[in-house]
Amino acid sequence: MDICDLAPPYIRAIAPYQPGKPISELVREMGLDEAGIVKLASNENPMGVSPLARVAIDRAAGDLARYPDGNGFELKRALSAHHGVAPERIVLGNGSNDVLEMAARAFLAPGLEAVYSQHAFAVYPLVVQAMGASGVEVPARNFAHDLAAMRRAVSGRTRVVFIANPNNPTGTLAAPAELESFIASVPREVLVVLDEAYYEYLPAELRADSVAWLERFPHLVVTRTFSKIYGLAGLRVGYAFAAPAVADLMNRVRQPFNVNSVSLAAATAALSDAEFVRKGHELNRAGMREVTAGLKRIGLEFIPSHGNFVSFRVGDAATVYRKLLESGVIVRPISSYGLPQHLRVTIGLEAENARFLAALDRALKA
Ligand SMILES: *Cc1c(COP(=O)(O)O)cnc(C)c1O
Repeated sequence: MDICDLAPPYIRAIAPYQPGKPISELVREMGLDEAGIVKLASNENPMGVSPLARVAIDRAAGDLARYPDGNGFELKRALSAHHGVAPERIVLGNGSNDVLEMAARAFLAPGLEAVYSQHAFAVYPLVVQAMGASGVEVPARNFAHDLAAMRRAVSGRTRVVFIANPNNPTGTLAAPAELESFIASVPREVLVVLDEAYYEYLPAELRADSVAWLERFPHLVVTRTFSKIYGLAGLRVGYAFAAPAVADLMNRVRQPFNVNSVSLAAATAALSDAEFVRKGHELNRAGMREVTAGLKRIGLEFIPSHGNFVSFRVGDAATVYRKLLESGVIVRPISSYGLPQHLRVTIGLEAENARFLAALDRALKA
């Protein structure tokens, strides 16, 4: 018998995560000029890296022979001051994917369940399945999380509920009050992981006061990332806020040096660059208007989004995706999210949005 046949069946059944196509891959496959390619496939910040982070990266690169600070003292101190959260409530991750996985590893095992929504972020089913636990996917309502149905799906075997707010790839948002009553209604023996990767893109009036909720809800875990508005996707830094005892358990399953020293320094600097975040927010608002106006002009339905991306319906998504690639525009097919007729595009710079809309218009006519 082959060693691979002896891997647990739930591991063998994992469908690998499908990332956005890297620019270098499209260059190799189609022989296109790298400079002419527009990548709007992974919800990255089109402004690049914050100038403050860049300085910190250069400085940190001078001392790479040493291990990083495994406790991330400086970054935790900065996060603590920025959010008003005690350091013992913070868990740092190699991207927020890493903290999502730590939540699963700390609380799930075969025989236990995790609840998440249809069309929700693909990482939830992956980390649940990797633990041999069962994922309970609750049908979405109008593409959004149906919180009442999710509450009903919580059973005696449920240990974790994942909520993406805003959700990727649909961009849908639960109103703060609804979210708060949902969390209040969930038994304290069930962890509610609230994934707020796109929090900074929300206007102030739509932001949940999730960090303040931590005081009242010991079963709440809030996750955020430096990959989106902070422009550090390539360095992989994310974090979670939780009750100190929950954070302690998550830290026990954390790899000792999971966030590298360049990333720690860059994230600490990026957190202090309020101007960069403000510009990213503004650019996204303007870009979202351009892209959605363009989609309307072309006559396509889209799912109104609160993130830095929007999913739109084209019918034969595979063909449109391929035609866009041929014109050097990379977007994201989302059939693996149960949306085979949709594509997702990230809001880019003004010129990138225009390139995308022109290429899409052509792709649909041809
Ligand atoms: C992009 C994204 C993340 C962030 O992933 P990182 O590992 O921090 O890069 C988390 N959750 C959702 C819903 C996302 O779309």
